[in-house]
Amino acid sequence: MTSPDYSKGVACVRAQYVPIAEASIPMTDWGFLRSDATYDVVTVWDGAFFRLDAHLERFMLSCERWRLNPGLSTEQIVDTLTQCVRLSGLRASYVEMICTRGQPPWGSRDPRLAVNQFYAFAVPYVWLANEAQRANGLHLNISDVQRIPSASVDPRAKNYHWNDLTMGLLGALDAGADSVVLVDAQGNVVEGPGFNVFCIRQGAVVTPAQGMLEGISRRTVIEMAQSLGMEVQVRALPAAELRSADEVFLSTSGGGVLPVTVVDGVAIGDGKPGALTRRLVETYWAWHSDPALNRPIDYS
Ligand code: PLP
Repeated sequence: MTSPDYSKGVACVRAQYVPIAEASIPMTDWGFLRSDATYDVVTVWDGAFFRLDAHLERFMLSCERWRLNPGLSTEQIVDTLTQCVRLSGLRASYVEMICTRGQPPWGSRDPRLAVNQFYAFAVPYVWLANEAQRANGLHLNISDVQRIPSASVDPRAKNYHWNDLTMGLLGALDAGADSVVLVDAQGNVVEGPGFNVFCIRQGAVVTPAQGMLEGISRRTVIEMAQSLGMEVQVRALPAAELRSADEVFLSTSGGGVLPVTVVDGVAIGDGKPGALTRRLVETYWAWHSDPALNRPIDYS
């Protein structure tokens, strides 16, 4: 028998490790039928998890918020994620943990009766921006699609309610932009598909306070900015302020700090990634070697 090919990634499905191409979930899992699930994504860089504790803490809070029980302790989740990465051998990886509602007994619509399920996978590191976009900056459109209100779906608990983000992204791509940021009912920008948004105005770093996921990369940016002596303003960010900012960038586990050089077709600053943004990009990657923030993986 030939051994399985784990090189493209590994999933853990109902306690079994399988090559990513073979991973599947039952069609009747409400995670699929109702988007009734939560998840988190942690990255591995240079063979070490980055800010694993923060991602686990957020995952457990998201589970609590949606009344989901992964059925595993934090240590057991770490073991599962580590095993996915170890089997894959990947030194740079995008690692996702998921808890779904599962399925109530057939015929029942009572979510309390469902047996929740835990899934995980590790695949090669996923970049939200390609090399050219990272070097030259992304072109971002501000959508008129409103992000689902926080009172309906709490954006601080990670979820797959992405139709608004996906419709916004399709509109932006059709219009020739690279990505999109959505607004709230007051016209403040909130977040985009998989990232938080920042701008720099008169030397201060500004990011929305509400209506979005509190990204772990967003937290890293705030901490980096403070450690570099920059002023940080966490507050409502009207779309007009983003358009007229000195610098704009995104934060995400899918690439860290990503420069934006065009918003709604108009160049930001001189149309090149800004100096403070570049400093934050450098610091983001430098922080990956801080032992307080990373956890090396034993691949043996
Ligand atoms: N906002 C949304 C809607 C997201 O899905 C994500 C990441 O998946 C983010 C923001 C950024 O969060 P993080 O920095 O933890 O990757």
